Amino acid sequence: MLQQTRMEVVLKYYEHFLATFPDLASLAKASDDQVLASWSGLGYYRRARMLRDGARVVSVDFGGNVPDAVQELMHITGIGRYTAGAISSIAYGQHAPIVDGNIARIVSRLAGIDEPAGSAALMRAAWIESERLVNACHSPREFNQGLMEIGALICRPRTPDCGACPLRSHCFAFRNKRTESLPRKKIKPETRDMNVDLYIVSDKRGRILMRRESGPLMNAMMHLPHGDTSLLTGAPLRVNDTRLLAKFRHTITTRRIAFSVYTGKLGSAIRDDGEYEWIDVSNLASVPHPSYVAKALALSTQLKS
Ligand code: SF4
Repeated sequence: MLQQTRMEVVLKYYEHFLATFPDLASLAKASDDQVLASWSGLGYYRRARMLRDGARVVSVDFGGNVPDAVQELMHITGIGRYTAGAISSIAYGQHAPIVDGNIARIVSRLAGIDEPAGSAALMRAAWIESERLVNACHSPREFNQGLMEIGALICRPRTPDCGACPLRSHCFAFRNKRTESLPRKKIKPETRDMNVDLYIVSDKRGRILMRRESGPLMNAMMHLPHGDTSLLTGAPLRVNDTRLLAKFRHTITTRRIAFSVYTGKLGSAIRDDGEYEWIDVSNLASVPHPSYVAKALALSTQLKS
């Protein structure tokens, strides 16, 4: 949950998620909708499904016990080299390296690796250096957790607190006054501005029309029908008698989106292929939907009342 999401946001979800799925077996049995509903609002929904899929692999292939070796851990859906190294070293005390953005930064400064932040070249060099360091240490559990803490609290991207750093006598960047220039600045991905129209279409029973996304972004979540856009898959909905209800801005990964929310009437029959569903608004809490949809519905409810 903490990947890509701030601690204060995660805390609200963590206990609820554990109460809903108290053990590996209950998570392994969960449907897409159940697991996504517990994750609604956290974003990066692929992580929720991966966690459930990983629980299934542990149940089926490892008899319900999380293995200790990096290679076996990496066989579990959703577990990459970093997570495998973290589980292996912290839970089982194995000499397994871990490298994420924070640790790559520390290692770059410690060893003088002059590559751009976030680049494949930096990560490659950081894995080699991190493996050398963890193999030489007495306690991989403490060493890796120490690196994580130093990365989060001391060896910050800007203005590292070298005076408080236990590694400074070993640090290339500190010795050579390169703490501000290592690793090199990263090339920022371009952000894109987009306009997206959303439609709130109701039936006689007051249910609203929603659609299940099947693209790479927020896949399998329930979205509002949309106008012409490259943000989401699915054909734009034909809607008549539209009335603008609200406008708001929202950022999804590198897209800065201006959403316009309209009410309207269905302009043509919808296909019966499972993409669209009529949803009772009182059931929305159990329907997995991304935060921009929650925002659109909340704004339109406020404006209608
Ligand atoms: S001495 Fe400074 S630059 Fe080097 S690892 Fe410590 S905090 Fe980072």
